[in-house]
Amino acid sequence: MALALSSTVAPRFLPMRLPKVCLALSGDTAEDMLSTAESMARDNPFLEFRLDYLKHPLAALPKIHRFLEAHPYVTAIGTCRRVDNGGKFKGSLASQLEVLTKANAAGCQLVDLELESALKSKAEAIARLRSRAGLILSFHDFRATRNLDETLDKMLKVPADFYKVVSTATTLSDNVAMMKFLQSRGDKHALIGLCMGEQGLISRVLSVRAGSAFTFGAVSADLKTAPGQISTRDLRSIYRIDQVDAVTRIYGVVGDPIEHSLSPIIMNTALRRENVNGVYLALHAKTLKDLIHCVRGIPLHGLSITMPYKQAILSHLDNTDAHTTKIGACNTVVRGQDGKLYGFNTDAAGVVRPIEQRLSIEGAKVLVLGAGGAARAAVFGLQERGAEVWILNRTSAKAQKLARQAKARTIKRADLRKIAFDVIINATPVGMGNTRDCPLKDEEIQARVVFDMVYDPVETHLLQVARAKGIAVIPGVEMFVQQAARQFEIWTGKPAPADDMLRAVTIALQDRATAQKQPKA
Ligand code: NAP
Repeated sequence: MALALSSTVAPRFLPMRLPKVCLALSGDTAEDMLSTAESMARDNPFLEFRLDYLKHPLAALPKIHRFLEAHPYVTAIGTCRRVDNGGKFKGSLASQLEVLTKANAAGCQLVDLELESALKSKAEAIARLRSRAGLILSFHDFRATRNLDETLDKMLKVPADFYKVVSTATTLSDNVAMMKFLQSRGDKHALIGLCMGEQGLISRVLSVRAGSAFTFGAVSADLKTAPGQISTRDLRSIYRIDQVDAVTRIYGVVGDPIEHSLSPIIMNTALRRENVNGVYLALHAKTLKDLIHCVRGIPLHGLSITMPYKQAILSHLDNTDAHTTKIGACNTVVRGQDGKLYGFNTDAAGVVRPIEQRLSIEGAKVLVLGAGGAARAAVFGLQERGAEVWILNRTSAKAQKLARQAKARTIKRADLRKIAFDVIINATPVGMGNTRDCPLKDEEIQARVVFDMVYDPVETHLLQVARAKGIAVIPGVEMFVQQAARQFEIWTGKPAPADDMLRAVTIALQDRATAQKQPKA
């Protein structure tokens, strides 16, 4: 978007015309900063020059000026944050204001000044700066999310074009506080708000929905100027930030840990492919209480539930279907039009769908290894479809309990050879990661189909052995895709683009495997 702002443009029009993402640029030298700007400006025409990162900010400004003249479509913020306020600038207050004034003269239409510096400056000095540049008055709390309204009230005493309130999230609930703040105060003031920190990640997307004029993105995952920043590439390609608006539906996966979840990639692919105005985020809930507070406080439309909350969430839902009640675990929540929370379990669909593409489940003899949450979904799902199911688990009492509940049978390892299984399903984590572990010995792997729920790596040792024996295999990614596809259908009422989802997750897993093989610098 071409945006050559001058001091004659009324600042109150700025929020509507600004791109939704500002790329924060750091670097030790102007050359570093400008070479990144050069390579990224075309896709990211809104840049923040973190002048405080430079050893000689004033000396860099002529070079920035030349860059901005050569790239007239760029909108730029000049920031020179002081050490005391979380930046790197160690000069005097007067020299900070001088850098910002000259940054504006060099072409930065907006300048960012911290509240603390503004309060120490003469009102005339701030007014002079603002007469030329759009002023972003900023406040950063590097410890917590607290007193947001009081902070803004204090900031409003200094006339500015934008008020930027950045806090630190230590819980998901802190994001709720930030969203409520933006929604309640954003209609009267041009606000920029978000929470820093890993727990604040969702605010970097949702703040725009709640009324923040824009959000900040990093050059890459390694080059962040604030904790928890997401790269502009991910903000655009995964979260489609440019399309996020006040009616964008919010979906997410919640668990602990959640950092390595592939669900955002697969679900955002499906939302994009099916043109759903929705965004899917990873929510790291360290406690159930925090999770429930977040679910109640943010208008989440749908949630994927993962470990360790699949059972614990049940008592907080308004209703669950009979299948989910029987399994005793919920991996899918949808908020109905009545505002109530309904729970489903799509893991069973994730097991049943790939198998029925290969053989008829009715009457099939199936061995399930494990008796945890995923095994429960498999056992109940297959029993309902008329399969004969045997359970083998490390802790035999758990296998017996599940067999009783699902009207299945248990089997001893020594007896495995006595039954000709159609399908063997691994529902244990054995084989996960870069191990060559296998839940069964080679000679015990006898079936028409071997299904490994483990999906990272895509090709486990169990699947390799099965393939070598000429047995058909079902990799865990198929289950991952099918359980996600069913979730997508429940949430949107549309058929899921399963092929695109499978492609996206396979590429992500390959990228991850390649990254793991790279020697660490
Ligand atoms: P869970 O509830 O913790 O259950 C784990 C089960 O595996 C238990 O029965 C446990 O036996 C058994 N187990 C654990 N370590 C073992 C070992 N070293 N040797 C033998 N048995 C062992 O976990 P879950 O949620 O059911 O998940 C199980 C696996 O399925 C995980 O790898 C998960 O990633 C995968 N999964 C994949 C998908 C997908 O979409 N592809 C979906 C859900 C789950 P004890 O009872 O003796 O502890």
